[in-house]
Amino acid sequence: MVKFNENRVKNEENLKNSINFKKSLGQNFLFDTNLLNAIASDGGVRADDTVLEIGAGAGTLTAVLASRCKKVISFEIDKSLMPILNGKAEQYKNIEFHFMDFMEADIDSLGLDKAKVVANIPYYITTPIIFRLVEHIEKFDSVLVLIQKEVAERFASPCGNKNYGVTSVILQSIFDVSIPRIIRKECFTPSPKIDSALCLLVPHDKYCISDFAGFRDFVHLSFSMRRKTLVNNLKSKFDKDKIILTLEDNGYNANTRPEEISVEKFIKIFENLKK
Ligand code: SAM
Repeated sequence: MVKFNENRVKNEENLKNSINFKKSLGQNFLFDTNLLNAIASDGGVRADDTVLEIGAGAGTLTAVLASRCKKVISFEIDKSLMPILNGKAEQYKNIEFHFMDFMEADIDSLGLDKAKVVANIPYYITTPIIFRLVEHIEKFDSVLVLIQKEVAERFASPCGNKNYGVTSVILQSIFDVSIPRIIRKECFTPSPKIDSALCLLVPHDKYCISDFAGFRDFVHLSFSMRRKTLVNNLKSKFDKDKIILTLEDNGYNANTRPEEISVEKFIKIFENLKK
């Protein structure tokens, strides 16, 4: 038993030494099997699931996912990792690797239906990746992403909190957002400068938004000047009296700032102003 553990540690060290980690691609990898299993559990991964992973790295999370679900579809942009990942695909026949930029993938062609996303995603394109997934929300049962802690806190922030802003409102209008686990920077190889967090996004149908693209623009405009009132931020696009009236109808007033407005009320105000 001791021998087995020694071998495992040695193999892990050899693997780490064989990789030329690229900072520009957000390459901070995880090797701890207990932690990887905890992530798969946080993602609710079950035997009959198809899991989409973005950024396979050395395939450590990919392998844990593959051992627990029906199929893993995994994207990796860095072709120098191909030999390591092809080794994983030989070991686990239910892994399908795509060596390409996920942002250029044809998601429709993947045949996803109620798939789960479980991914330690590159920091430099966190928001574009999430909004790419949002475009295909009907294909996903849940999205668990490992991202910078501060970004996760912004995504999950409740109304009134200092972190509450554009992404909180937009994501919470379509997802229940929670943070199941904080992962300290020391857990990664190489270690980044700040801690990370798992952020779980589960689609809900609490609200009806007639034009989601229009709503996104509206939220961006609402927060364009954080210190300004909502009226000041919106008056270039909407009639000032109508904005004030709509705010009053929803329990606010002309001095209300965007961070004081709940997600539900943002949707109500948007739907009323665009009439
Ligand atoms: N999943 C591995 C882990 O947990 O150890 C690696 C995670 S690392 C944070 C992110 C990975 O995403 C890197 O391997 C990087 O090369 C890859 N990556 C970066 N940009 C990408 C993109 N646009 N499409 C696909 N993979 C990308």
